[in-house]
Amino acid sequence: MQRVLTVETPQKMRERVRVAGWVQTRRDHGKLIFIDLRDSSGVLQLVFRPDDAELYQKAEKLRPEWVISVEGAVRERPKGMENPELATGTIELPVEKLEILNESKTPPFPLDSNGLEIEEELRLKYRYLDLRRERLQKNMRLRSKFVQAARDYLFKQGFVEIDTPLLTKSTPEGSRDFLVPSRLHPGTFYALPQSPQQYKQLLMMAGFERYFQIARCVRDEDLRADRGFEHTQIDIEMSFVEQADIMAMVEGLVLRACETVGATIKTKPFPVFSHVEAMQKFGDDKFDLRTSGEKEAGTLAFAWVKDFPVFERSPATRSGWTYSHNPFTALGPEDEEKLLDGRDIGALVSLQYDLVCNGAEVGGGGIRIAKRPVLEKVFETLGHSKEEIRELFGHMLEALEYGAPPHGGIALGVDRLIMVITGEKYLREVQAFPMTSGGKTAVMEAPTEVDPKQLAGLGLEMKKPR
Ligand code: ASP
Repeated sequence: MQRVLTVETPQKMRERVRVAGWVQTRRDHGKLIFIDLRDSSGVLQLVFRPDDAELYQKAEKLRPEWVISVEGAVRERPKGMENPELATGTIELPVEKLEILNESKTPPFPLDSNGLEIEEELRLKYRYLDLRRERLQKNMRLRSKFVQAARDYLFKQGFVEIDTPLLTKSTPEGSRDFLVPSRLHPGTFYALPQSPQQYKQLLMMAGFERYFQIARCVRDEDLRADRGFEHTQIDIEMSFVEQADIMAMVEGLVLRACETVGATIKTKPFPVFSHVEAMQKFGDDKFDLRTSGEKEAGTLAFAWVKDFPVFERSPATRSGWTYSHNPFTALGPEDEEKLLDGRDIGALVSLQYDLVCNGAEVGGGGIRIAKRPVLEKVFETLGHSKEEIRELFGHMLEALEYGAPPHGGIALGVDRLIMVITGEKYLREVQAFPMTSGGKTAVMEAPTEVDPKQLAGLGLEMKKPR
């Protein structure tokens, strides 16, 4: 018999159906056994009566998280027994046939709580069980719906979805790279992408004009509640546009995706602050515009911040300057002249814009430098020698000489956006298989040592850890 989902059963009154899923709870009420059966769509109440002794004895064995398949005819619950909180709360299934598909050991922690009381490492070791809890099921489904809405929106706006390589050259996104040794070219390394920044710019040079990718980015950063080694971003790049065009497109996209998952937005269009204004007003370029009432109601308060300084002082670089956001971000015409003349370096303003929501940075992007001498000058100002510039960025400089269109883009952080929408405080509540705060992967507990033969094949040898 064809299986139906529990959520479909209210439409099948008095029909015989087969449902399958996990035993959520078992309640023995005198002569009756009630089971809440959980599947991906929700929960359905099953009833076992003692008339059929064999069936009843089998039902007595059932324990939480066992996997079963049952058949019976859907009927109304007796008066007064309805549960208005459940989609199937007016009906129940008196079971006529029970098949036990699999047993389960007792889970190492309760699955019917919100899970926040359980120790992180234990939750992540058994993440496949942890994910069975309602809160995480909701978060992951909301995330999927959000990304789908964003994708649909971008396709309607004429964007092309394009994958870029995972094994690549280090991108100067400001973090440490994860390196991957090459077997074919011993002694050399790929880097996992900190973002598809250079590839998406190359795609503009390739003539695609509107690119997006739901991109995984990998950065070896210090781990925090809202920052992991890996994150997902809606990565976007457009040609023949100005700052305002990109901001307007992104605003439409963010509104659509947020409203699709039922979020309320405080102010539309999003307010815009200059970096100086934001620092004066809020003392930070990530700020929260919500009133306490709005915080309680889960409202989203988006805002743009723009006009960031191009360079910041840094003791760590040869020139004493580092970039404040992204070395590829363009400057307005006047500041570009000053840069080329080497004047007022500390006061130069970039065409960078960040999207802030409820105190978190949820996106950032900019108009890009499309002229070789300007990009060269930025790298020189950062203290790179001509040799280093050629070595690290020669490919980008060369590409700019073959008719690069004016272009710009943005990356929206999916994990952070889902965190603000759901009101979660930790990344691990919105990612399926997050790292522990100590940097171990969920369930598999990587990183692990590898066979010395594998290392030898890569031309590597492990020094004894000091
Ligand atoms: N590459 C930047 C980032 O990942 C985003 C961008 O400028 O488009 O933060």
